Amino acid sequence: MKNFNFYQNLRNLFSHINNLLSVAKKAFLSNSTDKIPFAERLNKYAALKHKSKIMTLVYATLLVVAFVLSIANHNNVNASVAPQNNMDYLLLENSMGDNLDENNIYPEESLENIRSLFEMVNYKETTKVIEHEIKLSKGDTFINILTNLGMEYKDAYGVYLELKKVYAPENLKAGQIINITTTVNTELNQLISLDNILIEPKPGQRFIVERDENNNLLARKEKDDLILEVKSADGIIDGTLSNSMHKAGVPNKIIANFINIFSYSIDFRRDVKKGDKFEIIYENHLTPNGELVQTGNILFAALTLKKDRIALHRFKDSSGQVDYYDEKGFAMKKTLHRKPLAFQSARISSPFGKRRHPIKKKIIVHWGVDYAAPKGTAIYAAGDGVVQAAKWNGGYGNYIKIRHNSEYSTAYAHMWKFAKGIHPGKRVKQGQVIGYVGSTGLSTGPHLHYEVVKNGRRVNPLRIKAAAGENLAGKNLRKFKAQVADLKKTYHSLFAKYEKKNDKLAKK
Ligand SMILES: [Zn+2]
Repeated sequence: MKNFNFYQNLRNLFSHINNLLSVAKKAFLSNSTDKIPFAERLNKYAALKHKSKIMTLVYATLLVVAFVLSIANHNNVNASVAPQNNMDYLLLENSMGDNLDENNIYPEESLENIRSLFEMVNYKETTKVIEHEIKLSKGDTFINILTNLGMEYKDAYGVYLELKKVYAPENLKAGQIINITTTVNTELNQLISLDNILIEPKPGQRFIVERDENNNLLARKEKDDLILEVKSADGIIDGTLSNSMHKAGVPNKIIANFINIFSYSIDFRRDVKKGDKFEIIYENHLTPNGELVQTGNILFAALTLKKDRIALHRFKDSSGQVDYYDEKGFAMKKTLHRKPLAFQSARISSPFGKRRHPIKKKIIVHWGVDYAAPKGTAIYAAGDGVVQAAKWNGGYGNYIKIRHNSEYSTAYAHMWKFAKGIHPGKRVKQGQVIGYVGSTGLSTGPHLHYEVVKNGRRVNPLRIKAAAGENLAGKNLRKFKAQVADLKKTYHSLFAKYEKKNDKLAKK
Protein backbone atom coordinates (compact mmCIF):
# COMPACT_ATOMS: atom_id res chain seq x y z
CA MET A 1 0.00 0.00 0.00
CA LYS A 2 2.89 2.30 0.75
CA ASN A 3 4.34 1.89 -2.72
CA PHE A 4 0.99 2.10 -4.36
CA ASN A 5 0.30 5.37 -2.61
CA PHE A 6 3.59 6.84 -3.69
CA TYR A 7 3.32 5.83 -7.32
CA GLN A 8 -0.29 6.77 -7.43
CA ASN A 9 0.55 10.21 -6.10
CA LEU A 10 3.51 10.64 -8.37
CA ARG A 11 1.44 9.52 -11.33
CA ASN A 12 -1.23 12.01 -10.41
CA LEU A 13 1.34 14.74 -10.23
CA PHE A 14 2.82 13.96 -13.65
CA SER A 15 -0.55 13.55 -15.27
CA HIS A 16 -1.60 16.82 -13.82
CA ILE A 17 1.50 18.49 -15.16
CA ASN A 18 1.28 16.80 -18.55
CA ASN A 19 -2.27 17.91 -18.98
CA LEU A 20 -1.57 21.37 -17.85
CA LEU A 21 1.18 21.44 -20.42
CA SER A 22 -0.90 20.16 -23.33
CA VAL A 23 -3.72 22.58 -22.59
CA ALA A 24 -1.34 25.45 -22.14
CA LYS A 25 0.45 24.58 -25.35
CA LYS A 26 -2.85 24.48 -27.18
CA ALA A 27 -3.92 27.76 -25.66
CA PHE A 28 -0.59 29.29 -26.45
CA LEU A 29 -0.52 28.19 -30.05
CA SER A 30 -4.12 28.92 -30.93
CA ASN A 31 -4.87 32.02 -28.92
CA SER A 32 -6.79 34.03 -31.52
CA THR A 33 -6.57 37.32 -29.69
CA ASP A 34 -2.83 37.13 -29.98
CA LYS A 35 -1.74 38.81 -33.20
CA ILE A 36 1.62 37.03 -33.41
CA PRO A 37 1.68 34.68 -36.43
CA PHE A 38 1.59 30.98 -35.73
CA ALA A 39 5.07 30.23 -37.11
CA GLU A 40 6.57 32.96 -35.00
CA ARG A 41 4.83 31.65 -31.89
CA LEU A 42 6.27 28.23 -32.59
CA ASN A 43 9.72 29.81 -32.79
CA LYS A 44 9.19 31.55 -29.50
CA TYR A 45 7.99 28.37 -27.95
CA ALA A 46 11.22 26.71 -29.09
CA ALA A 47 13.31 29.63 -27.86
CA LEU A 48 11.64 29.57 -24.47
CA LYS A 49 12.81 26.04 -23.90
CA HIS A 50 16.33 27.36 -23.50
CA LYS A 51 15.65 29.61 -20.57
CA SER A 52 14.94 29.56 -16.87
CA LYS A 53 17.10 26.75 -15.64
CA ILE A 54 16.15 27.77 -12.13
CA MET A 55 12.65 26.45 -12.65
CA THR A 56 14.06 23.03 -13.47
CA LEU A 57 15.70 23.05 -10.09
CA VAL A 58 12.54 24.22 -8.37
CA TYR A 59 10.47 21.44 -9.87
CA ALA A 60 13.19 18.86 -9.41
CA THR A 61 13.30 19.79 -5.74
CA LEU A 62 9.52 19.61 -5.61
CA LEU A 63 9.58 16.10 -7.02
CA VAL A 64 12.24 14.99 -4.56
CA VAL A 65 10.18 16.43 -1.69
CA ALA A 66 7.12 14.64 -3.05
CA PHE A 67 9.07 11.42 -3.15
CA VAL A 68 10.37 11.80 0.40
CA LEU A 69 6.95 12.78 1.74
CA SER A 70 5.37 9.84 0.01
CA ILE A 71 7.82 7.38 1.50
CA ALA A 72 7.80 8.90 4.97
CA ASN A 73 4.16 9.75 5.49
CA HIS A 74 2.18 7.84 2.86
CA ASN A 75 0.39 11.06 2.38
CA ASN A 76 -1.09 12.42 -0.79
CA VAL A 77 1.22 14.59 -2.73
CA ASN A 78 -0.17 17.97 -3.55
CA ALA A 79 1.44 19.81 -6.36
CA SER A 80 0.07 22.31 -8.74
CA VAL A 81 1.12 25.07 -11.03
CA ALA A 82 -0.21 28.43 -10.02
CA PRO A 83 -2.52 29.93 -12.62
CA GLN A 84 -1.23 33.11 -14.17
CA ASN A 85 -3.21 36.16 -15.12
CA ASN A 86 -3.19 35.45 -18.78
CA MET A 87 -4.15 31.76 -18.64
CA ASP A 88 -7.66 30.40 -18.25
CA TYR A 89 -7.24 28.33 -15.15
CA LEU A 90 -10.71 26.78 -15.27
CA LEU A 91 -10.04 25.55 -18.76
CA LEU A 92 -6.88 23.88 -17.53
CA GLU A 93 -8.64 22.27 -14.56
CA ASN A 94 -11.58 20.97 -16.58
CA SER A 95 -9.53 19.29 -19.23
CA MET A 96 -7.27 17.62 -16.73
CA GLY A 97 -9.22 14.41 -16.24
CA ASP A 98 -9.52 13.59 -19.91
CA ASN A 99 -5.90 13.12 -20.82
CA LEU A 100 -4.62 10.94 -18.02
CA ASP A 101 -2.15 8.41 -19.26
CA GLU A 102 -2.04 5.64 -16.65
CA ASN A 103 0.65 3.56 -18.26
CA ASN A 104 3.41 5.92 -19.24
CA ILE A 105 5.23 8.19 -16.92
CA TYR A 106 8.45 9.81 -18.02
CA PRO A 107 9.84 11.95 -15.26
CA GLU A 108 12.60 13.52 -17.37
CA GLU A 109 10.27 14.54 -20.11
CA SER A 110 7.83 15.86 -17.58
CA LEU A 111 10.51 17.97 -16.03
CA GLU A 112 11.20 19.50 -19.37
CA ASN A 113 7.50 20.01 -19.83
CA ILE A 114 7.12 21.68 -16.47
CA ARG A 115 9.87 24.06 -17.34
CA SER A 116 8.34 24.89 -20.70
CA LEU A 117 4.94 25.21 -19.16
CA PHE A 118 6.12 27.60 -16.55
CA GLU A 119 7.81 29.73 -19.15
CA MET A 120 4.83 29.69 -21.43
CA VAL A 121 2.48 30.66 -18.69
CA ASN A 122 4.73 33.53 -17.75
CA TYR A 123 5.85 34.36 -21.26
CA LYS A 124 3.53 37.24 -22.09
CA GLU A 125 4.17 39.15 -18.97
CA THR A 126 7.87 39.55 -19.31
CA THR A 127 9.02 38.98 -22.87
CA LYS A 128 8.31 40.81 -26.04
CA VAL A 129 9.53 40.51 -29.61
CA ILE A 130 10.61 43.82 -31.10
CA GLU A 131 11.27 44.51 -34.76
CA HIS A 132 13.74 47.33 -35.12
CA GLU A 133 14.16 49.24 -38.35
CA ILE A 134 17.44 51.03 -37.88
CA LYS A 135 18.61 53.71 -40.27
CA LEU A 136 22.36 54.05 -40.14
CA SER A 137 23.82 57.39 -39.22
CA LYS A 138 27.29 58.55 -40.10
CA GLY A 139 29.80 56.88 -37.80
CA ASP A 140 27.55 53.94 -36.89
CA THR A 141 29.23 50.57 -36.98
CA PHE A 142 27.53 47.21 -37.14
CA ILE A 143 28.88 46.30 -33.71
CA ASN A 144 27.76 49.50 -31.99
CA ILE A 145 24.26 49.04 -33.40
CA LEU A 146 24.11 45.65 -31.67
CA THR A 147 25.60 46.91 -28.41
CA ASN A 148 23.07 49.77 -28.47
CA LEU A 149 20.36 47.10 -28.47
CA GLY A 150 21.84 45.74 -25.25
CA MET A 151 24.18 43.09 -26.60
CA GLU A 152 27.51 42.39 -24.94
CA TYR A 153 30.47 43.47 -27.08
CA LYS A 154 31.81 39.90 -27.22
CA ASP A 155 28.47 38.56 -28.54
CA ALA A 156 28.10 41.45 -30.98
CA TYR A 157 31.57 40.71 -32.31
CA GLY A 158 30.51 37.07 -32.79
CA VAL A 159 27.52 38.18 -34.88
CA TYR A 160 29.81 40.53 -36.82
CA LEU A 161 32.12 37.62 -37.68
CA GLU A 162 29.17 35.47 -38.72
CA LEU A 163 27.73 38.20 -41.00
CA LYS A 164 31.20 38.79 -42.46
CA LYS A 165 31.06 35.30 -44.00
CA VAL A 166 28.54 36.60 -46.54
CA TYR A 167 28.70 40.41 -46.33
CA ALA A 168 31.37 42.83 -45.16
CA PRO A 169 29.69 44.97 -42.47
CA GLU A 170 32.19 47.72 -43.34
CA ASN A 171 30.24 48.22 -46.57
CA LEU A 172 27.21 49.52 -44.66
CA LYS A 173 26.61 53.16 -45.51
CA ALA A 174 24.90 56.02 -43.70
CA GLY A 175 21.22 56.10 -44.63
CA GLN A 176 21.06 52.35 -45.18
CA ILE A 177 18.46 50.39 -43.24
CA ILE A 178 19.05 47.28 -41.10
CA ASN A 179 16.11 45.26 -39.81
CA ILE A 180 16.79 43.51 -36.50
CA THR A 181 14.38 41.36 -34.47
CA THR A 182 15.09 40.91 -30.78
CA THR A 183 13.35 39.37 -27.78
CA VAL A 184 13.51 41.52 -24.68
CA ASN A 185 12.46 41.20 -21.07
CA THR A 186 10.10 44.12 -20.65
CA GLU A 187 10.17 44.01 -16.86
CA LEU A 188 13.92 44.24 -16.59
CA ASN A 189 14.25 46.09 -19.90
CA GLN A 190 16.89 43.59 -20.93
CA LEU A 191 17.82 41.92 -24.18
CA ILE A 192 17.06 38.21 -24.06
CA SER A 193 18.04 37.25 -27.55
CA LEU A 194 18.89 38.56 -30.99
CA ASP A 195 16.64 36.59 -33.35
CA ASN A 196 17.14 37.90 -36.84
CA ILE A 197 19.03 40.47 -38.94
CA LEU A 198 18.14 41.53 -42.47
CA ILE A 199 20.27 43.77 -44.67
CA GLU A 200 19.13 44.64 -48.20
CA PRO A 201 21.87 46.75 -49.81
CA LYS A 202 19.96 46.91 -53.10
CA PRO A 203 16.70 45.50 -54.44
CA GLY A 204 16.87 41.78 -55.09
CA GLN A 205 19.84 41.19 -52.78
CA ARG A 206 19.46 40.24 -49.11
CA PHE A 207 21.86 39.26 -46.34
CA ILE A 208 20.24 37.45 -43.43
CA VAL A 209 21.46 36.31 -40.02
CA GLU A 210 18.99 34.06 -38.22
CA ARG A 211 18.81 31.20 -35.75
CA ASP A 212 19.00 27.61 -36.92
CA GLU A 213 17.31 24.66 -35.15
CA ASN A 214 20.16 24.55 -32.62
CA ASN A 215 19.61 28.20 -31.84
CA ASN A 216 22.90 29.26 -33.41
CA LEU A 217 23.02 32.43 -35.48
CA LEU A 218 23.80 31.64 -39.10
CA ALA A 219 24.42 34.07 -41.95
CA ARG A 220 23.27 33.49 -45.50
CA LYS A 221 22.60 35.50 -48.62
CA GLU A 222 19.65 35.59 -50.96
CA LYS A 223 19.64 36.89 -54.49
CA ASP A 224 16.68 37.24 -56.80
CA ASP A 225 17.24 36.25 -60.41
CA LEU A 226 17.19 39.45 -62.40
CA ILE A 227 14.96 39.87 -65.40
CA LEU A 228 16.35 41.58 -68.48
CA GLU A 229 13.84 44.01 -69.90
CA VAL A 230 14.33 45.81 -73.20
CA LYS A 231 12.56 49.16 -73.41
CA SER A 232 12.21 51.81 -76.03
CA ALA A 233 11.45 55.51 -75.83
CA ASP A 234 11.29 58.37 -78.26
CA GLY A 235 10.17 61.96 -78.30
CA ILE A 236 10.55 65.53 -79.37
CA ILE A 237 13.07 67.60 -77.49
CA ASP A 238 11.45 70.41 -75.56
CA GLY A 239 13.86 72.21 -73.26
CA THR A 240 16.92 70.11 -72.61
CA LEU A 241 17.50 66.68 -74.07
CA SER A 242 17.90 65.12 -70.60
CA ASN A 243 14.62 66.61 -69.41
CA SER A 244 12.76 65.36 -72.47
CA MET A 245 14.23 61.86 -72.09
CA HIS A 246 13.49 61.90 -68.38
CA LYS A 247 9.85 62.69 -69.12
CA ALA A 248 9.78 59.69 -71.47
CA GLY A 249 10.76 57.49 -68.52
CA VAL A 250 14.39 56.90 -69.44
CA PRO A 251 16.56 56.29 -66.33
CA ASN A 252 19.20 58.96 -65.59
CA LYS A 253 22.12 56.63 -66.08
CA ILE A 254 20.88 55.66 -69.54
CA ILE A 255 20.44 59.36 -70.42
CA ALA A 256 24.04 60.04 -69.38
CA ASN A 257 25.26 57.13 -71.54
CA PHE A 258 23.15 58.31 -74.47
CA ILE A 259 24.76 61.75 -74.29
CA ASN A 260 28.16 60.11 -73.97
CA ILE A 261 27.63 58.10 -77.16
CA PHE A 262 26.86 61.25 -79.15
CA SER A 263 29.22 63.63 -77.39
CA TYR A 264 31.99 62.41 -79.69
CA SER A 265 30.36 64.16 -82.57
CA ILE A 266 27.73 66.54 -81.21
CA ASP A 267 27.97 69.68 -79.12
CA PHE A 268 24.77 69.38 -77.15
CA ARG A 269 24.62 73.06 -76.33
CA ARG A 270 25.05 74.29 -79.88
CA ASP A 271 23.68 71.51 -82.07
CA VAL A 272 20.58 70.27 -80.23
CA LYS A 273 17.54 72.52 -80.61
CA LYS A 274 13.92 72.52 -79.54
CA GLY A 275 11.92 70.32 -81.92
CA ASP A 276 14.77 67.87 -82.55
CA LYS A 277 13.98 64.21 -81.86
CA PHE A 278 15.48 61.32 -79.95
CA GLU A 279 14.97 57.54 -80.13
CA ILE A 280 16.40 54.95 -77.82
CA ILE A 281 16.22 51.21 -77.17
CA TYR A 282 17.89 50.15 -73.92
CA GLU A 283 18.05 47.41 -71.30
CA ASN A 284 16.99 47.34 -67.67
CA HIS A 285 17.75 44.66 -65.08
CA LEU A 286 14.71 44.13 -62.86
CA THR A 287 13.88 42.08 -59.76
CA PRO A 288 10.94 39.66 -60.03
CA ASN A 289 8.89 42.45 -58.39
CA GLY A 290 9.73 44.80 -61.21
CA GLU A 291 12.13 46.98 -59.25
CA LEU A 292 14.96 48.48 -61.32
CA VAL A 293 18.24 47.12 -59.98
CA GLN A 294 20.58 48.43 -62.63
CA THR A 295 20.48 49.76 -66.12
CA GLY A 296 21.95 47.78 -68.99
CA ASN A 297 23.24 48.64 -72.43
CA ILE A 298 21.89 51.06 -74.99
CA LEU A 299 21.12 48.86 -78.02
CA PHE A 300 20.11 51.67 -80.31
CA ALA A 301 20.35 55.45 -80.12
CA ALA A 302 19.26 58.05 -82.62
CA LEU A 303 19.06 61.82 -82.78
CA THR A 304 17.31 63.76 -85.49
CA LEU A 305 18.82 67.24 -85.55
CA LYS A 306 16.77 69.46 -87.82
CA LYS A 307 16.49 66.95 -90.68
CA ASP A 308 19.71 65.10 -90.10
CA ARG A 309 19.23 61.71 -88.46
CA ILE A 310 22.20 60.06 -86.74
CA ALA A 311 21.25 56.49 -85.82
CA LEU A 312 23.67 54.17 -84.04
CA HIS A 313 23.51 50.45 -83.22
CA ARG A 314 25.50 48.72 -80.53
CA PHE A 315 27.52 45.75 -81.75
CA LYS A 316 30.01 43.39 -80.18
CA ASP A 317 32.39 42.09 -82.83
CA SER A 318 34.00 38.64 -82.95
CA SER A 319 36.96 39.85 -80.90
CA GLY A 320 34.60 41.10 -78.16
CA GLN A 321 35.07 44.81 -78.93
CA VAL A 322 31.90 46.83 -78.39
CA ASP A 323 31.23 49.92 -80.48
CA TYR A 324 28.38 51.85 -82.09
CA TYR A 325 27.86 51.73 -85.85
CA ASP A 326 25.46 53.25 -88.31
CA GLU A 327 23.12 50.96 -90.18
CA LYS A 328 25.68 50.24 -92.88
CA GLY A 329 28.28 49.12 -90.37
CA PHE A 330 30.37 52.29 -90.45
CA ALA A 331 31.90 53.01 -87.10
CA MET A 332 30.62 55.95 -85.15
CA LYS A 333 32.71 58.98 -85.81
CA LYS A 334 35.08 59.46 -82.95
CA THR A 335 36.91 62.57 -82.12
CA LEU A 336 38.21 64.40 -79.13
CA HIS A 337 35.44 65.86 -77.02
CA ARG A 338 34.85 69.48 -77.82
CA LYS A 339 33.56 70.07 -74.34
CA PRO A 340 35.11 67.51 -71.99
CA LEU A 341 32.83 68.30 -69.06
CA ALA A 342 30.08 66.61 -67.10
CA PHE A 343 28.17 69.88 -67.34
CA GLN A 344 27.19 69.76 -71.02
CA SER A 345 25.34 73.08 -70.95
CA ALA A 346 28.48 74.96 -69.90
CA ARG A 347 28.83 78.10 -72.01
CA ILE A 348 31.97 79.35 -73.69
CA SER A 349 33.13 82.27 -71.56
CA SER A 350 36.10 82.96 -73.79
CA PRO A 351 36.67 81.60 -77.31
CA PHE A 352 39.88 80.56 -79.02
CA GLY A 353 41.92 83.34 -80.65
CA LYS A 354 42.84 86.96 -80.11
CA ARG A 355 41.18 88.76 -77.21
CA ARG A 356 41.74 91.30 -74.50
CA HIS A 357 42.99 89.45 -71.44
CA PRO A 358 40.76 90.17 -68.40
CA ILE A 359 43.65 90.23 -65.93
CA LYS A 360 46.66 91.29 -68.02
CA LYS A 361 44.53 94.03 -69.71
CA LYS A 362 46.07 93.71 -73.17
CA ILE A 363 45.37 91.97 -76.47
CA ILE A 364 46.83 88.50 -76.52
CA VAL A 365 46.05 85.20 -78.22
CA HIS A 366 43.87 82.87 -76.21
CA TRP A 367 45.23 79.42 -77.00
CA GLY A 368 42.21 77.47 -75.80
CA VAL A 369 38.49 77.60 -75.13
CA ASP A 370 37.15 78.60 -71.72
CA TYR A 371 34.01 76.90 -70.47
CA ALA A 372 32.36 78.51 -67.44
CA ALA A 373 31.15 75.77 -65.09
CA PRO A 374 30.47 75.44 -61.37
CA LYS A 375 33.43 74.59 -59.16
CA GLY A 376 33.70 70.83 -58.77
CA THR A 377 32.19 69.94 -62.17
CA ALA A 378 33.86 66.75 -63.43
CA ILE A 379 36.35 67.16 -66.27
CA TYR A 380 36.68 64.24 -68.71
CA ALA A 381 39.60 63.00 -70.72
CA ALA A 382 38.75 64.26 -74.24
CA GLY A 383 39.93 60.96 -75.72
CA ASP A 384 41.82 57.77 -74.90
CA GLY A 385 45.43 58.52 -74.09
CA VAL A 386 48.25 58.73 -71.59
CA VAL A 387 48.63 61.45 -68.95
CA GLN A 388 51.82 63.40 -69.66
CA ALA A 389 51.55 66.02 -66.92
CA ALA A 390 49.42 66.49 -63.82
CA LYS A 391 50.96 69.31 -61.82
CA TRP A 392 50.87 72.97 -60.82
CA ASN A 393 51.81 74.98 -63.91
CA GLY A 394 52.09 78.70 -63.02
CA GLY A 395 49.25 80.80 -64.48
CA TYR A 396 47.53 77.59 -65.61
CA GLY A 397 47.12 76.55 -61.98
CA ASN A 398 46.45 72.84 -61.59
CA TYR A 399 47.12 71.48 -65.04
CA ILE A 400 46.80 68.15 -66.89
CA LYS A 401 48.12 67.24 -70.31
CA ILE A 402 47.12 64.05 -72.14
CA ARG A 403 48.74 62.64 -75.28
CA HIS A 404 46.15 60.82 -77.42
CA ASN A 405 48.15 59.72 -80.44
CA SER A 406 51.03 60.89 -82.55
CA GLU A 407 48.97 63.80 -83.75
CA TYR A 408 46.90 65.07 -80.84
CA SER A 409 47.29 66.11 -77.22
CA THR A 410 44.89 68.00 -74.98
CA ALA A 411 45.47 70.22 -71.95
CA TYR A 412 43.20 71.23 -69.07
CA ALA A 413 43.89 74.20 -66.78
CA HIS A 414 42.73 76.03 -63.62
CA MET A 415 41.51 72.74 -62.10
CA TRP A 416 40.33 72.72 -58.53
CA LYS A 417 41.91 69.29 -58.04
CA PHE A 418 42.91 66.14 -59.88
CA ALA A 419 40.87 62.95 -59.81
CA LYS A 420 42.22 60.08 -57.74
CA GLY A 421 44.97 58.08 -59.46
CA ILE A 422 45.69 60.64 -62.18
CA HIS A 423 49.47 60.95 -62.54
CA PRO A 424 51.99 61.06 -65.40
CA GLY A 425 52.09 57.75 -67.25
CA LYS A 426 48.51 56.84 -66.35
CA ARG A 427 46.43 55.55 -69.27
CA VAL A 428 42.95 57.07 -69.43
CA LYS A 429 39.81 56.30 -71.42
CA GLN A 430 37.73 58.85 -73.28
CA GLY A 431 35.10 60.21 -70.88
CA GLN A 432 37.02 59.18 -67.76
CA VAL A 433 37.02 61.81 -64.98
CA ILE A 434 40.51 63.31 -64.65
CA GLY A 435 39.78 66.28 -62.40
CA TYR A 436 37.36 68.99 -61.31
CA VAL A 437 36.66 72.56 -62.41
CA GLY A 438 38.23 75.25 -60.24
CA SER A 439 39.81 78.68 -60.47
CA THR A 440 43.46 78.03 -59.67
CA GLY A 441 46.31 80.06 -61.24
CA LEU A 442 45.51 83.19 -63.26
CA SER A 443 41.76 82.96 -63.31
CA THR A 444 38.79 85.23 -62.59
CA GLY A 445 36.29 82.50 -61.73
CA PRO A 446 35.65 78.78 -61.97
CA HIS A 447 36.11 77.59 -65.56
CA LEU A 448 37.88 74.98 -67.65
CA HIS A 449 40.57 76.25 -69.99
CA TYR A 450 40.78 73.54 -72.65
CA GLU A 451 43.52 73.30 -75.29
CA VAL A 452 43.95 70.96 -78.22
CA VAL A 453 47.46 70.53 -79.57
CA LYS A 454 47.81 69.14 -83.10
CA ASN A 455 51.32 68.27 -84.27
CA GLY A 456 52.78 70.61 -81.65
CA ARG A 457 50.53 73.58 -82.48
CA ARG A 458 47.58 74.69 -80.43
CA VAL A 459 44.39 74.62 -82.54
CA ASN A 460 40.78 75.60 -82.03
CA PRO A 461 39.11 72.68 -80.15
CA LEU A 462 35.83 73.41 -81.96
CA ARG A 463 37.38 72.87 -85.39
CA ILE A 464 38.94 69.46 -84.94
CA LYS A 465 37.75 66.95 -87.53
CA ALA A 466 36.13 63.68 -86.59
CA ALA A 467 38.14 60.55 -87.18
CA ALA A 468 36.27 57.38 -88.06
CA GLY A 469 36.90 54.20 -86.12
CA GLU A 470 37.15 50.80 -87.77
CA ASN A 471 34.23 49.88 -90.04
CA LEU A 472 32.64 46.45 -89.99
CA ALA A 473 33.41 43.97 -92.76
CA GLY A 474 33.02 40.30 -93.70
CA LYS A 475 31.55 38.01 -91.08
CA ASN A 476 31.13 40.82 -88.54
CA LEU A 477 29.22 42.92 -91.03
CA ARG A 478 26.87 40.03 -91.89
CA LYS A 479 26.22 39.36 -88.21
CA PHE A 480 25.67 43.06 -87.59
CA LYS A 481 23.16 43.40 -90.43
CA ALA A 482 21.18 40.41 -89.14
CA GLN A 483 21.11 42.00 -85.68
CA VAL A 484 19.88 45.33 -87.09
CA ALA A 485 17.16 43.55 -89.10
CA ASP A 486 16.01 41.73 -85.94
CA LEU A 487 15.80 44.91 -83.93
CA LYS A 488 13.90 46.70 -86.70
CA LYS A 489 11.40 43.85 -86.86
CA THR A 490 10.81 43.94 -83.09
CA TYR A 491 10.58 47.73 -82.92
CA HIS A 492 8.83 48.11 -86.24
CA SER A 493 6.62 51.04 -85.26
CA LEU A 494 9.47 53.02 -83.70
CA PHE A 495 11.60 52.73 -86.83
CA ALA A 496 8.66 53.34 -89.18
CA LYS A 497 7.90 56.59 -87.38
CA TYR A 498 11.33 58.10 -87.85
CA GLU A 499 12.82 56.41 -90.89
CA LYS A 500 10.31 57.30 -93.58
CA LYS A 501 10.73 61.02 -93.21
CA ASN A 502 14.50 60.80 -93.23
CA ASP A 503 15.03 58.05 -95.75
CA LYS A 504 16.46 60.29 -98.42
CA LEU A 505 18.70 62.08 -95.98
CA ALA A 506 19.98 58.88 -94.47
CA LYS A 507 21.51 57.99 -97.81
CA LYS A 508 23.21 61.38 -98.24
ZN1 LIG B 1 41.50 80.20 -70.97
